[in-house]
Amino acid sequence: MKTQAHIFYKENAMYMENVSITAIAQDIPTPFYCYSYSSISESYLDYEQAFSQLDTLICYAVKANSNQAILTSLAKLGAGADVVSEGEIRRALKAGIPANKIVFSGVAKTHSEISYALNHDILQFNVESEPELQLISELATAQDKIACISIRVNPNVNANTHAKITTGKSENKFGIPITKARDVYQYAASLPSIKVQGVDVHIGSQLTDLAPFKQAFGMVAEFVSVLRKDGHDISIIDIGGGLGINYAEDETPPNKNDYAQIVKQQLGHLQCKIIVEPGRSIVGNSGILVSKVVYVKKGEERQFLIIDAGMNDLIRPSMYDAYHQIKPINSHNDKNAYYDVVGPVCETGDTFSKNRQLPIMQATDLVAILSCGAYGSVMSSTYNTRMAAPEVMVKDDQYTIIRSRPCYEEVIKQDIIPDWV
Ligand SMILES: *Cc1c(COP(=O)(O)O)cnc(C)c1O
Repeated sequence: MKTQAHIFYKENAMYMENVSITAIAQDIPTPFYCYSYSSISESYLDYEQAFSQLDTLICYAVKANSNQAILTSLAKLGAGADVVSEGEIRRALKAGIPANKIVFSGVAKTHSEISYALNHDILQFNVESEPELQLISELATAQDKIACISIRVNPNVNANTHAKITTGKSENKFGIPITKARDVYQYAASLPSIKVQGVDVHIGSQLTDLAPFKQAFGMVAEFVSVLRKDGHDISIIDIGGGLGINYAEDETPPNKNDYAQIVKQQLGHLQCKIIVEPGRSIVGNSGILVSKVVYVKKGEERQFLIIDAGMNDLIRPSMYDAYHQIKPINSHNDKNAYYDVVGPVCETGDTFSKNRQLPIMQATDLVAILSCGAYGSVMSSTYNTRMAAPEVMVKDDQYTIIRSRPCYEEVIKQDIIPDWV
């Protein structure tokens, strides 16, 4: 059975690196996330290798998975960070990512977040609007700082990805239309305490085709030439993230080398530093969600495999209609059955897959939902007062809990009952 790098079967039992998932599940109650250190570091190093012909800074998109163990692993390999909140700046700094490798993206950076970033002298703000530009200028002046900025341009290209994660169309809230951005650069250059240093673009996530990247980067290249003629000193091009991964077994998304070739072809001649902000393509296929079958329920028309992980643990199937492979941890029988794999949450949307072919399963059997390293744990909630699933990281024959499951008491006592109730 073909699985992902560092996830494989040995004598019908699933392993991650040299650790049996069953062994981890004997130690840690399900559901839990499990990540392969080697897979994460190799994905990062593949990026370095692919972009080695260009002056590149790889700023890992922290929002994909912000566990400190993962950030620290990437920091030690030399990664920078793309962050979207003060919380993520704090995480990145704490993990040892230097401020001069941190870029700050997002449409709603607040007063206090901007001040925090200025205080720490981050590499750049990726600015998404004129009012944001004005606020950054005011705060930088007040704090006696120079804010280095790129403006995020919106090239109005179709990224051919899910509507909720496409960001480079003119109807999306992101960036400044590339057709209007020239004036905004002029405005930026006129503001005090602002240093215009680059151009930023990010057209969406889970792109499985290079053509939209090529189109967007071509437009950025032309735009950089225009800006230079206008007298702006453009030394950085931030190309965003968005490279897709394979979720289904038979998908073959573009590889990092072909992606880097497109970047070189479209932008290489401009002699800029390239910032790339990959998230999903570093951690997505490095993680699984391990869950246990609670009941097998025979419905009138279908069989339900009811597992102990729910949409609160992994929301991608209900939110984006995302497909995830589901595999047995122990594949001892080869008779198959078709199941709707569902969670415990009281919503029909709490469905991981419909009519999925699996070996015949019974209560207490373990399953793995694959490709859960990105936008899994970070998007989880405590809906239904279910405790957040713990996270485990495996390296070779060792594993460590990198986030523990909160206890019920801790969570319940966060609520405060007014004395007037
Ligand atoms: C989400 C995001 C990324 C990362 O996207 P992936 O698809 O996970 O690679 C990079 N840059 C920005 C600005 C983002 O919003």
